[in-house]
Amino acid sequence: MEIFHISAECYPMAKVGGLADVVGALPKYQTNAGHLVRVVVPCYDTKFKNENDFECVHWATVKLGNFDFPFSVLKEKTNKLGYELYLIEINDLFNRPNVYGYEDDIERFLSFQIATLDWIIARNKIPDIINCHDHHTGLVPFLLQVAYKYETLKDVKTAITIHNGLYQGWFGFDKLYYLPEFDLKHVGLLEWNNSINSLAVGVKCANAVTTVSPSYLNEINYSANGLEELFRSVRNKSKGILNGIDFEVWNPLKDQMIAENYSIENFETGKLKNKEKLCEQFELDSSKPLFSFIGRLFEEKGGDLLPQASALALSEHFEDINILILGSGNAEIELQLTQLRNDYKGNYNVFIGYNEELAHLIYAGSDYVLMPSRVEPCGLNQMYAMRYGTIPIVRRTGGLRDTVIDFGDDGNGVCHDQASVGDICYSINRAVNLYNDKTNFNKVVQRGMSTDHSWERVCQEYIELYNLIIEKNEI
Ligand code: ADP
Repeated sequence: MEIFHISAECYPMAKVGGLADVVGALPKYQTNAGHLVRVVVPCYDTKFKNENDFECVHWATVKLGNFDFPFSVLKEKTNKLGYELYLIEINDLFNRPNVYGYEDDIERFLSFQIATLDWIIARNKIPDIINCHDHHTGLVPFLLQVAYKYETLKDVKTAITIHNGLYQGWFGFDKLYYLPEFDLKHVGLLEWNNSINSLAVGVKCANAVTTVSPSYLNEINYSANGLEELFRSVRNKSKGILNGIDFEVWNPLKDQMIAENYSIENFETGKLKNKEKLCEQFELDSSKPLFSFIGRLFEEKGGDLLPQASALALSEHFEDINILILGSGNAEIELQLTQLRNDYKGNYNVFIGYNEELAHLIYAGSDYVLMPSRVEPCGLNQMYAMRYGTIPIVRRTGGLRDTVIDFGDDGNGVCHDQASVGDICYSINRAVNLYNDKTNFNKVVQRGMSTDHSWERVCQEYIELYNLIIEKNEI
């Protein structure tokens, strides 16, 4: 079948978080399974865009209310990513280094969605499935159904995948005139709590709703930043499909970004080499267990708990642990984490910023990865960590609940129930004891390394869902 994925992020073109990893991998496995898969993302000014060759396959003007923006559709020439990548180039709106965070984000992503549909309809070929991702593409199912100009695409089946339900893309009805013309009797589909809520629109209008883990599907029924009732009402067209990880990109045996390659056969020596490099770079002691954190420094990730939890754990275990943090986000958390460096020199360090290469080295060289998340729709870090022989320490929530089992139950990680400083420190204590019991520690590592989180199986679940909505219009 012909499948379109429309998304704000796609690795390696543009990455902020897990959305990029999923949209960069799932299409590859769908292509391998024999489908024709096209991924469409905005054309940001990124390294990947600047270092690769593209050909222009379509150009026109996209109308956003009174504004007319010239746009082009650029296709990556070689298909080397394993699927067809298309960039929607609207220079006035996207020729910028960052994916999000601009005052005109609403205008940017509305134009992106409209330009994408303008192009799809101009091809004169009707796709089988359009899979939207998160709120940035939530209006697509609505526009397909009701906008006069997309009439011939009206029957295309759509799925919306929710990678993060906290962000919803709200805007006021004063911007309604941005949308292509439609019969106003449908205007109620746009509304949630008196504003236009892009995610809610997608959830109402798509033929199927997927979340990136089964547990997250349950959780959003009672905690979804105001959309709980909506999620409960669409339960019969919703499915939780646990993300996979791209075993080609995340493979400690072949990874070019780490200091020493290894597999489950020789992980002890391989990981030690990576740990030594990491510890040398960050002035830490490689003979001690290394606890790391990688991620966005926000409350949803438990980022606000890290400064106090690190200080407490380090003062209790000053002689026997190291902590290393890689992340960026809330300025106050960044400052607190940076200041800790003065108090715990030699046992603690932090890198504020985004660094893909360093993330790979940290997964390879750490003993534990901390994930004290309050909300975790799926979480990829714990799966990358396990693949690299690093034990995840997680709060039981969302996808963490679905992928990590406590070592006390013969599992692959360390689990706690609360997102609190106390629970993190308690888990660090348990992890230190486990580290000192090498036989059991290695068993937990091996169980993690042999857990199968490959995309092949997951990819099939998506195809089955697409088939159901194509054949029966329901799941
Ligand atoms: P989310 O999408 O909510 O941020 P996920 O666990 O789904 O969380 O995905 C996070 C992805 O982003 C992982 O690939 C992780 O390694 C990466 N990542 C997050 N922060 C950084 C950072 N500061 N530097 C490098 N990679 C990062």
